[in-house]
Amino acid sequence: MADKLQPQTRAIRGQMDQTQYREHSTPLFLTSSFTFDSAEEMAETFSGEREGIIYSRYSNPSVDELIAKACALEGTEAGFATASGMAAVFASLAALVQQGDHIVATRALFGSTHQLLTNLLPKWGVTFTYVEPDQPDTWAAAVQPNTVLFCTETPSNPGLKLVDLAAAGRLCKEHGLLFVVDNCFATPVLQRPAEFGADLITHSATKWMDGQGRVLGGLLLGNQAVMDKVVTFCRHTGPAMSPFNAWTISKSLETLHLRMDAHCRSALALAHWLGEQQAVAKVHYPFLESHPQYALARRQMDAGGGIVTFELKGGITAAQRLLNAVELCTRSSNLGDTRTILTHPATTTHSKLTPEERALVGISDGLVRMSVGLEAVVDIQGDLLRGL
Ligand SMILES: *Cc1c(COP(=O)(O)O)cnc(C)c1O
Repeated sequence: MADKLQPQTRAIRGQMDQTQYREHSTPLFLTSSFTFDSAEEMAETFSGEREGIIYSRYSNPSVDELIAKACALEGTEAGFATASGMAAVFASLAALVQQGDHIVATRALFGSTHQLLTNLLPKWGVTFTYVEPDQPDTWAAAVQPNTVLFCTETPSNPGLKLVDLAAAGRLCKEHGLLFVVDNCFATPVLQRPAEFGADLITHSATKWMDGQGRVLGGLLLGNQAVMDKVVTFCRHTGPAMSPFNAWTISKSLETLHLRMDAHCRSALALAHWLGEQQAVAKVHYPFLESHPQYALARRQMDAGGGIVTFELKGGITAAQRLLNAVELCTRSSNLGDTRTILTHPATTTHSKLTPEERALVGISDGLVRMSVGLEAVVDIQGDLLRGL
């Protein structure tokens, strides 16, 4: 029956089986290992002849519940949960490439993903080429004989450039590349890359999935063949998510649809309002008609997401003045919280990029990233006016 239910219902009702206590809300399995009735049962479980849970670095009931719900939301066959989003991103690449391989990636990736490609993977002889996210016609030219994987992120952080997932899916099919998507910004509520042929989807569950700024977490979700490799890699390298964090995020998924709906509605309203403010030079939001990829946004996303970025006419001084003036919104680098958060990328999350690199990914000195929370829109507006 469960397979026939809508994803949002499965995020609520896709709980693990009840224990003998017949609890309504699922319990937390804080245990590092599991026991066996006999030596034979233990041997059969280890060999894989018998299904069973062995050790929480491999699997755990609280973690498995989260994975099952996340697979239902993304429409994927299998998954693995990691301690953070970056553990998932690292595993998504490290499990699938080997020495001498080449990756094609869209520019404007999450900061630490950029570090992985530029500074860490080259240590093991893996190279990469950046392509422009909004120019799909140029991507094929970057594919080399040793290219094995195309990795992307859409909408991008913080420029909110979109990547045409259908075009990426076609490129990967044509050239036999693995197709890996970081779907953190959109969440499966708004965009499901598996529908466009993605083999592997990563998430920082720290963001909208937990949605309340409490725990770190990451997810790897994909087709069975790819996940077999990823799970083997993760079992032996140990990035497993803690059962406590999995239990917390699993509860959060029950309200993900509801929360994303509210985040997106407020974000769209604020994007329009910011466009009318004197101090604001430009607003970026996928569901604004002024977004250069508005038509693509409508094609591949169900709503514009919870992040709005805007450029202030006064550059760095104006951006810092705004961040210092707010009393309700929070200055923080996180996103995807019930609380509205402001970040100044040029001096924080993207300060390690050179000014030229920042320009290429559309991060001007006056750019402010706003992760729209669930407070009343009028209260957020009143707070922003203190500094605009
Ligand atoms: C935050 C984030 C990550 C990293 O996740 P952590 O949970 O902080 O490790 C990766 N990708 C994107 C798009 C993110 O926003």
